[in-house]
Amino acid sequence: MSVATALEIGERYRRLRDEVGSAVTVVVATKYVSLEDMAVLDDAGVEVVGENRAQDLLAKHARFADRFRWHFIGHLQSNKVKVVNDVCELVHSLSSDSAARRLAIPALLEVNLAGEATKSGVEPVEIAGYLERYPFIRGLMTMPPLADDPEVSRPYFRRLRELASEHGLSELSMGTSQDYRVAVEEEATYVRVGEALFSP
Ligand SMILES: *Cc1c(COP(=O)(O)O)cnc(C)c1O
Repeated sequence: MSVATALEIGERYRRLRDEVGSAVTVVVATKYVSLEDMAVLDDAGVEVVGENRAQDLLAKHARFADRFRWHFIGHLQSNKVKVVNDVCELVHSLSSDSAARRLAIPALLEVNLAGEATKSGVEPVEIAGYLERYPFIRGLMTMPPLADDPEVSRPYFRRLRELASEHGLSELSMGTSQDYRVAVEEEATYVRVGEALFSP
């Protein structure tokens, strides 16, 4: 995709950081960003990036290893866990035992709150079992159903916060370009933003 200039992205990134405050980590979603354009993010001052595909993660990390901190935000297949272990500091999207058994870095557990068949994520009743089995889980993540109105996401974000609190977890990864403001109001500690920074 064509991206905005480094100057524009830098300006948007600074505004976003100011808006969400220092308690929230902005994870810049890079799935639409080409290998070459990763340099633009570096120039723009971006610190933490989130990648969806293990193969892209590997290629981008090979070239820009020390420029960013690397998170994994995509569907985590068990045969790709090794790459993620080697490169990342956090997985946002853990949702299976097969991946969890091989994971060696901290993770957030993805919860499918709307019960959407097309989405990954464990059911709320499964959270306790995962926490018992995998003490490296630090918090929860969710992707609410697509909606035009960010307020539609609020009940999902609130529910995720309640579940985290019930289980004594402090980290909450929730909110994308279109609903990160609402997510921050509901006490997100990570927002994952792409589109809003890059669109020309
Ligand atoms: C792409 C993606 C995002 C960012 O979405 P935008 O609408 O581009 O802000 C966040 N989380 C996940 C899991 C993604 O795949």
